[in-house]
Amino acid sequence: MRPDALLYPAPEGLYCPEGRFYVDPVRPVERALITHGHSDHARSGHAKVLATRQTLDIMRIRYGDDFCMSEQAAAFGEEIVVNGVKVSFHPAGHVLGSAQIAIEKNGTRIVVSGDYKRRPDPTCAPYEPVACDVFITEATFGLPVFHHPDPSGEMAKLYASLWQFPERTHMIGAYALGKAQRVIRLLRDTGYDEPIYIHGAMERLCDYYVSQGIDLGELRPATVEGRDKSAFKGAIVVGPSSAFADRWARRFNDPLPAFASGWMMVRQRAKQGGVELPLVISDHCDWPELTETITELHPAEVWVTHGREEALVRWCELQGIKARPLHLVGYEDEAE
Ligand SMILES: [Zn+2]
Repeated sequence: MRPDALLYPAPEGLYCPEGRFYVDPVRPVERALITHGHSDHARSGHAKVLATRQTLDIMRIRYGDDFCMSEQAAAFGEEIVVNGVKVSFHPAGHVLGSAQIAIEKNGTRIVVSGDYKRRPDPTCAPYEPVACDVFITEATFGLPVFHHPDPSGEMAKLYASLWQFPERTHMIGAYALGKAQRVIRLLRDTGYDEPIYIHGAMERLCDYYVSQGIDLGELRPATVEGRDKSAFKGAIVVGPSSAFADRWARRFNDPLPAFASGWMMVRQRAKQGGVELPLVISDHCDWPELTETITELHPAEVWVTHGREEALVRWCELQGIKARPLHLVGYEDEAE
């Protein structure tokens, strides 16, 4: 069947009329298939939610037990039929539980990749290529200027700073789901075995990662009121960057603000955010990863959901692949 009859953009999000479901809807709907737990993709208030077990657990942690009326867990690779449409979930390598969703009817298969990356990340299952007629991709870093460096080099910058400023508390801003745990795991994998202090907003998600077998080493709360500032001398604190501007940050010893994000490639963004130590660590594809993935899959068509759509669409056309921007709204790329 025609791909745009199987799935098309509606105001609520990508809609499959045959299956009567939406993918990552931005408004409450009757039936939602969710790619991953980031708040712009996974919202509360849907009647029925189909997602991986880990994504459902993460939604429950963030929104409480009544985040939906009924839930169904999809195992990776399991074929599920929704109102006559075949759907299956496949690892996306973005954050714990993240999945691409394959949607198939009458020999036409569309893959909604959600957010994904190709770099190694021990905190989630690695991306798996899924052959398809239409590949739907985001383009957060969809410009040829975006090349993310190897994260181990970014860790080396952090260690150099710790060595240069042994008294200062290094505060690493990181998104609470995924990035925070990846940064902690990168620290452990590069030999950092001191306790790491975490902001209260990250505690339950870190606990959940640990319960899923991801060792994060010794974590301590950084939220204890009245703690002697000297306790944080030379320590590493991981928290949401929004917390760094408020009273919470004053408990630390001459804090040195760092930020882990793909956006830290853009010097102006780091400067505006008052970031002294930008760490370019991304959970999204950079330009080479996007174009290599499309080359590898070689779908008949590419649809680009959001981000810097035009450059990627143009690149696809130059490769002889039909492509179009979907201009989906409601998906942030700031949180990256
Ligand atoms: Zn995401």
